[in-house]
Amino acid sequence: MNGQIKGYRLFQIFILLCVIQFCGLNSLAQNGKIEIEVPSKPTAVESRTEEIFERLVALRRDLHRHPELGGKEKRTAAKIGEYLTSLGLEVKTGIGGQGVVGILRGAKNGRKIAWRADMDALASDSPDVVAFQSTNPGVRHICGHDVHVAIALGIADVLVSLKNQINGTIYFVFQPSEENVRGAKAMIDDGLFEMIDPEEFYALHVTPYPEGIVVSKAGYMFADYDEIELTFESGKDSLKIVEFAKQVIEGLETIEKPEIFDDAMNFGDPEVGLVSPNTIYRDYVSVHSGYYIRERGGKTLISANIGTTDKNLLNEAKNKLEEKLNSSEFNKNFEGIEYFDVTYHPNNDPKLVKTASRSIQEHFGSDTYYEQYGIASGGGDDFALFQEKVSGVYFFLGASDFDKEVIAETHSANFAVDENCIRTGVNIFSILLLDRLKFN
Ligand SMILES: [Zn+2]
Ligand SMILES: [Zn+2]
Repeated sequence: MNGQIKGYRLFQIFILLCVIQFCGLNSLAQNGKIEIEVPSKPTAVESRTEEIFERLVALRRDLHRHPELGGKEKRTAAKIGEYLTSLGLEVKTGIGGQGVVGILRGAKNGRKIAWRADMDALASDSPDVVAFQSTNPGVRHICGHDVHVAIALGIADVLVSLKNQINGTIYFVFQPSEENVRGAKAMIDDGLFEMIDPEEFYALHVTPYPEGIVVSKAGYMFADYDEIELTFESGKDSLKIVEFAKQVIEGLETIEKPEIFDDAMNFGDPEVGLVSPNTIYRDYVSVHSGYYIRERGGKTLISANIGTTDKNLLNEAKNKLEEKLNSSEFNKNFEGIEYFDVTYHPNNDPKLVKTASRSIQEHFGSDTYYEQYGIASGGGDDFALFQEKVSGVYFFLGASDFDKEVIAETHSANFAVDENCIRTGVNIFSILLLDRLKFN
């Protein structure tokens, strides 16, 4: 996940909110439509997952100790290649840089499905909160891509053990450089879709939701996002201009957030958060605090981020901003605005979301999958570029354990995951892929 807007305030409030969120999700489940019994006898998938769970955790911790920035995932790619080769998969390496693909062919022909895991870590100087700390100074896995790799390899392992039941082909795509959103494009440009021809494409990302749940929705999962950069001629009024510009930008905001919560926290609120049917994260323009102001060659530059639920709203907001600045007392100093598209927006296929949610709820119970009603106002993922080629679904996987204060808030200094999410992810998505492959 990239481009996530920071602004984490009180950790304790967050924990409190997450606990509320957890309760909210439970009550949502109780009020939900269908309650389906989870089978008590472990399935073949669950048995295999149990067998490999420790190996996957060890692998994840190894990757966590050796995080690599986008474009430099050499060691990570080698580890992935090793595992896939040990499973007997056809392995292709060096795609779009450090990209790796593992191809699993089932017993008979059938549907072709791809699963993506991203591989890169982030620049961060904060110390790791886990015992298996990063040994690569200034680089940390605080977006959970180490977990994503472990889950994808786990799914590959489980499905290899059930190969005889598989009609079709599964492509495991390990994508480099997600954080700088260059990896998916690099893989495509390097001929990914000449090597593989999937009919469906899936991916997941860990989130602060409680461990044990999966969340998704039809259509866009993240807001449309632009960085705006205003340029003014510097002078004696510069300070006033900056203040004025900030006011104008903030005036664009249409979403009313409860005062003490910032965006990341609010997403999980049971009343107004993303999984609530009454969410406030619908049809909004949101301005993210944290302006970047600098002087350059006699000019004052002011940058900010605005997010909206759709492109039209974003264009309207841009027009409004320009009008206000042009008609202001500072119009002589105002030189213009530049807009930069910050990231890519995963766009889920409604039919596949429906089939996936049904599959997950049928096998694991109705309180395992939640529909996301709103659109998150921070973040994005260049998995979107794969979805432009092939229909697919992007899932959020819960990875927090609030009792233990383990909060999977991506890009935050104290990011941590409940590693049980590896087990959950492997089980749920192995079953989903099997469901998609067995009826051909
Ligand atoms: Zn990220
Ligand atoms: Zn990420």
